[in-house]
Amino acid sequence: MKQLFKFFLILGVGTILLSRCERDLPSLPDPEKKVVIKPNDFLSGENYDQLTVEIVSVEGYQPTGETINNLKAFLESRLNKSEGIVLAPALVPSPGKAVYSLDDIKEIEQEYRTQFPDPEEKKLTAWFFFADADYAENEDDSKVLGIAYGPTSMVIFEETIREFSGGRGQPSIPVLETTVTEHEFGHILGLVNNGTKMVVNHQDDIANGKHCDNQDCLMYWAAEHSGPLINFLTGGKIPPLDQNCLNDLKNNGGK
Ligand SMILES: [Zn+2]
Ligand SMILES: [Zn+2]
Repeated sequence: MKQLFKFFLILGVGTILLSRCERDLPSLPDPEKKVVIKPNDFLSGENYDQLTVEIVSVEGYQPTGETINNLKAFLESRLNKSEGIVLAPALVPSPGKAVYSLDDIKEIEQEYRTQFPDPEEKKLTAWFFFADADYAENEDDSKVLGIAYGPTSMVIFEETIREFSGGRGQPSIPVLETTVTEHEFGHILGLVNNGTKMVVNHQDDIANGKHCDNQDCLMYWAAEHSGPLINFLTGGKIPPLDQNCLNDLKNNGGK
C-alpha cells in the first residue's frame, strides 16, 4: 500500500480521508492576511470569537441543506464562538477536470476563496470545496471522499460521495456528506493527536494516521475492505465523536 494511503480513512469501497499533511501545507493565499491558525483557535474563543465557513461548490454538486444544518450544529456544539458561526455557500462553474490532484484543489482555493482569518476582528474562517470529480490518487478499489489539506482548508469529493450514497444498501446522501464533512473538520480541530493533545492515548495504530481507535467514533479509520463504517452509516446514523475525542476538544478550549 502506498504510504500516502495509510493516512486515509477508507469507507468500505469508498473512503474518507484526511490529514497528515495538514501542517506542512500551504500558506493562505493572501500574503497580507497570512496568519498561523491552530486547532485551539477554532475551539476556544480567546483569539477568535466568530467563524465563517465558506462552502464553495461546483454547480450541481452542492451539499444538501440537511448537511449544512448538521455541520452548523456540530460546530456550534463544540466551538466557543460567542459572536456566531456562519456557513456561507457559493457556487462556481466546473473547472472541467476529469479528476482532481491536491495541486488542482489548492489552485481552486487560490482562485475562489474570499475569506481569511482576521485576528484584529477576532474573525476566523474555514474553506470547503465540493468537487465534481474524484480525487486523482484513488486506488482501484477505494476512493477518497474528503481531505483536510491545510489548517483551515478542506475538500469534499461530492461526485464520489454520491457514488457511494443514496442507493440501495447505501447510506443516504446527507448521512454520508455529513459524516465526511464533520470528520474532515475534526482533523481541522486537531483530532486525533493532530494538533490537539490527547488527554489519554486513543490514537489508532500509527499506520492509520491521525485517527481514533474506537470504531464507533466519527474519527475512526476504517480499513480498506472491512467497511465497518459504511455498514454503520447504512443504518442511517452519523457517527458521533466518542468520549475520548470529546475530552481532547474540551481540554484544548472547546465546549
Ligand atoms: Zn480522517
Ligand atoms: Zn474518537
